[in-house]
Amino acid sequence: MADIPEKVPKKKKERKRYYRKRVEFFRLLQKMKLWPSRKRILHGIKSIEIVGKQAIITTHCGETFTAYNSKNSRVARHLRNKWDMKICRACNIPSWKIEKFKATRFSQSYGSNLVEKDNEG
Ligand SMILES: [Zn+2]
Repeated sequence: MADIPEKVPKKKKERKRYYRKRVEFFRLLQKMKLWPSRKRILHGIKSIEIVGKQAIITTHCGETFTAYNSKNSRVARHLRNKWDMKICRACNIPSWKIEKFKATRFSQSYGSNLVEKDNEG
């Protein structure tokens, strides 16, 4: 049995990631680390502090927002639909993160729910 040499170059392919539409909103924020503001500016999240049913978001540019845990909130919709948004320069979001965000899709029936099993280890 001859070994087939594994010479397949590992290409860094931009894979689309899928999340469930009903994904836990705060988990999604923690995962994406992006915050679309009311003025449609996409900020980078520096920290998230969850207090009861709301989360206090601090962006890299030093702004603080309060998010409510709702899948139907404005922010959740912005993240899902990726409306035309400006990117905050002060937050200095790395371009790979923007690309990743753009490649993210939401599906009713397919994708990660970001539940415990995703966080194993
Ligand atoms: Zn910002």
